[in-house]
Amino acid sequence: MKIFVVNCGSSSIKYKVYDMTDESVLASGLVERVGSDEAVLTHEPAGGGRQTVPLGHADHNKAMRDVLARLTDPDVGVLDSLEEIAGVGHRVVHAGERYSESARIDQAVIDVIEDHFPLSPLHNPANLAGIRASIAAMPDTPQVAVFDTAFLATLPRTAWMYPVPMEWYEKHRVRRYGFHGTSHKYVTRQAAALLDRPADEVNLITCHLGNGASITAVAGGHAVDHSMGMTPLAGVMMGTRCGDLDPAIIFYMLQEGFSAEQIDNALNKKAGILGVSGVSNDMRDLLAACDSGNERAHLALDMYVYRIAKYIGAYRAILPALDAVVLTGGIGENSVPTRAALCARLAGLGVILDGQANAATTGGKTGRITVDDSAMAIWVVPTNEELMIARDTAELV
Ligand code: ADP
Repeated sequence: MKIFVVNCGSSSIKYKVYDMTDESVLASGLVERVGSDEAVLTHEPAGGGRQTVPLGHADHNKAMRDVLARLTDPDVGVLDSLEEIAGVGHRVVHAGERYSESARIDQAVIDVIEDHFPLSPLHNPANLAGIRASIAAMPDTPQVAVFDTAFLATLPRTAWMYPVPMEWYEKHRVRRYGFHGTSHKYVTRQAAALLDRPADEVNLITCHLGNGASITAVAGGHAVDHSMGMTPLAGVMMGTRCGDLDPAIIFYMLQEGFSAEQIDNALNKKAGILGVSGVSNDMRDLLAACDSGNERAHLALDMYVYRIAKYIGAYRAILPALDAVVLTGGIGENSVPTRAALCARLAGLGVILDGQANAATTGGKTGRITVDDSAMAIWVVPTNEELMIARDTAELV
């Protein structure tokens, strides 16, 4: 069975074609600058022969038609005909409380995606544009929505409710939703298999540490708490986002003469690792600056690790038991010094790093980075959101 996975942004379309018999990737690619006169398609068949093609003016519909034309192209194509595609899986960021699983796309699903435009103004409209373009190009092929929020829809009310006036929730939908759910779901399933635990019994703390970062407490295979909030600004410190903050800081900065827009921009794009270090939002640059003795870089790294450790401690407290802490995302999968610093911060919970295993587990490798008698097992499990989307799609079609 062949599955086409689409992640559509406002100006980009990322895609992969999977052969689900062995979950291999047949082709992948990206259209950039969608909506402009200079759209560019980069298409990469698994066997080699990467191609970059200017598309001229391309909206989502034209870009999608051009991508599909590549897939069946005699030279760089990987399919004889589009009819080989058994289903199209679309990443959709926000379905709020409406879906706790992926769903076959029909008018009701489209209505829910539209209903969540106000809660996800950057992503949901773009995701829907991709869905519409895909339906227009392949009207007879089943389409599936895989929601980022779905895995987090199992949070108990105690965890998702904010202590604000009840009508803020009832009238304005103010609550914790959470994000990165597809990644947390994927590593939860992978970790359950690695730990030889039934998928509905595994207890984990999954840490997705990329440019954005979020942490999920998983009990019995289901998410029970999560660090991001109504928006992805909450939780741990990130590349450019502040994470948890005293909300009154915003009113104070308004009084200091900053506009709401400036504050929003600063907290989303100029805070976090970048804001504290003044160096970069990228962990590799931060570590290089630490190595050359930059004090602000050291402070940023220490704050970054400290805030993750506090979440792990808090989630350990609310979980009935814990099989493992799972690290994933670009930093979780690769950054040996950051993981070592995190394990040192968790010494109070009996965490003992295995230095050799830590150094060896990078570049897409899976493995445990704590010693056998560490009181808490810490695993590195590379994420694969596209494969999770492909698996859910295959299951539903
Ligand atoms: P995104 O959230 O944009 O998908 P990623 O999951 O790719 O981001 O993570 C990006 C982060 O991972 C960056 O901070 C980057 O520095 C870090 N990273 C990637 N590779 C390495 C590496 N080899 N060593 C340290 N950090 C790395």
